[in-house]
Amino acid sequence: MTTKYLIFTGGVVSSVGKGVTAAALGLTLKERGFQVAVQKIDPYINVDPGTMSPYQHGEVYVLDDGAETDLDLGHYERFIDIRLTRVSNFTAGQVYAEIIAKERHGDYLGGTIQVIPHITNEIKRRVKLVARATGAEIVLVEVGGTVGDIESQPFLEALRQLRNEVGRENVFFIHVTWLPYIGATGELKTKPTQHSVAALRSIGISPNMIIARSDYPVDNSLTDKIALFCDVEKEAVVPMVTTPVLYEVPLLLEQAGVADFIISRLKLAPRRTPDWQAWKQLVESVKQPRPKVQIALVGKYVELQDAYMSVREALKHAALAVGVEVEIAWVHASDLEKNRGWEIVQQADGILVPGGFGSRGIEGKILAARYAREKKAPYLGLCLGMQVMCIEFARNVLGHEDANSTEFDRSTSYPVIDLMLDQRAITDLGGTMRLGLYPCVFKEGSKTAAVYGVPQVEERHRHRFEFNNAYRQEFESAGVVFSGLSPDGRLVEVAELADHPYMIGCQFHPEFLSRPNRPHPLFVGFMKAAAERSQRV
Ligand code: GLN
Repeated sequence: MTTKYLIFTGGVVSSVGKGVTAAALGLTLKERGFQVAVQKIDPYINVDPGTMSPYQHGEVYVLDDGAETDLDLGHYERFIDIRLTRVSNFTAGQVYAEIIAKERHGDYLGGTIQVIPHITNEIKRRVKLVARATGAEIVLVEVGGTVGDIESQPFLEALRQLRNEVGRENVFFIHVTWLPYIGATGELKTKPTQHSVAALRSIGISPNMIIARSDYPVDNSLTDKIALFCDVEKEAVVPMVTTPVLYEVPLLLEQAGVADFIISRLKLAPRRTPDWQAWKQLVESVKQPRPKVQIALVGKYVELQDAYMSVREALKHAALAVGVEVEIAWVHASDLEKNRGWEIVQQADGILVPGGFGSRGIEGKILAARYAREKKAPYLGLCLGMQVMCIEFARNVLGHEDANSTEFDRSTSYPVIDLMLDQRAITDLGGTMRLGLYPCVFKEGSKTAAVYGVPQVEERHRHRFEFNNAYRQEFESAGVVFSGLSPDGRLVEVAELADHPYMIGCQFHPEFLSRPNRPHPLFVGFMKAAAERSQRV
């Protein structure tokens, strides 16, 4: 079986939705009966995004095998409904690290190591690995960044070579660009697209398709012009207008006939007719007006909502299932410390404290957890959000005033959250946390067990600190239920308050496993509780 490659490059500007386009196209191919896999190439030098600031990079998306990856992998998993592994994301840093390690080992026998062929060969090896690891027939490869970036050159060169190696009929280049709108004349402009295609062609790649993103409708004269100037077939210029409903993109691509065009060029025949019924229903229900439920998301990186991409999507999925529309009110945790932003928390029907690192805003999050407990407002704590909930309980219910996590106060007399034992000797920050899938067993009769409806699950983790078992009994006797534990009973995975409509914190990240058609139980339970509270007068 020959592997077919669909390669996505970006033109003009970043953030035009290349990841969403690739993910949505992946779904249209899966719907035709093909086994697809996806890979994101990030041309930056970091080994992975795990140590990068969310302000720089957005959310770090964690996979089953513990790979810390780009947030586009979240789009791929949510749209295509697949589970990816670490072969699906690599960076320039990983490529160079591998080559340099081999060089130090003496593998090159005195040869000079160069971008071509050593770096490009390693890039091709990693691209080809995906099909081997997954058995996929079609591999969608998204190249991060924008054509013209100095970092992406070796990657584009490698992919150009790949096309010759595996045969032109097996590789299809899709260039995703942006048509800016000039307000003064009221027109969309194709010139930047022409320039970026020229840049792509200067490295030997002629795109087979151009997806022209725009905020305004694009007429035929414009697509014809792009086809003419950029040397692509007319049918291969696909306008893609911004839609407020993210999950509508696969349907738009379907309407535009994109998948059929591509598979005919790749000399493939569809295995089955796509069945869009369920997906259409999903999009229809997103468009229906529904009663609003307000969730205050008390975080640290709230200016950049991409930092909480999966949390936001998981809230939307759950809201849809409950028949409400979620309105997320973004609250700066550190504002709450300065007595600002409280009106948002007070108005909200539920409070969510997401994951995070470092001490900024911690006290604000603790205040939010206190508010949720005292006012019986639904609360969902994710990872750090669970830790904060426990710190608050230790301080204000158990009376240990300086209770804290040793992440924020090493000399606290009540280290309710402490470094995990196997984390103590670790000095490197990158890739060393407790990462990926771990099992969790629920306590019978708990709220958590009830929302999940199963006795045990596996969830994705990314943390270094844990609940300190020395305090378990004291917590339990004061009304905390440790409703999820590792199977050996040694790690607290979920904590909930007995005397509260819904105050649950989990040490893992449920947001990564939520799907538009399969919302996560912890989010559904939270949204139901918030919807009930929103009925109050
Ligand atoms: N900083 C905390 C820890 O390392 C929480 C991590 C998180 O929220 N992902 O345990």
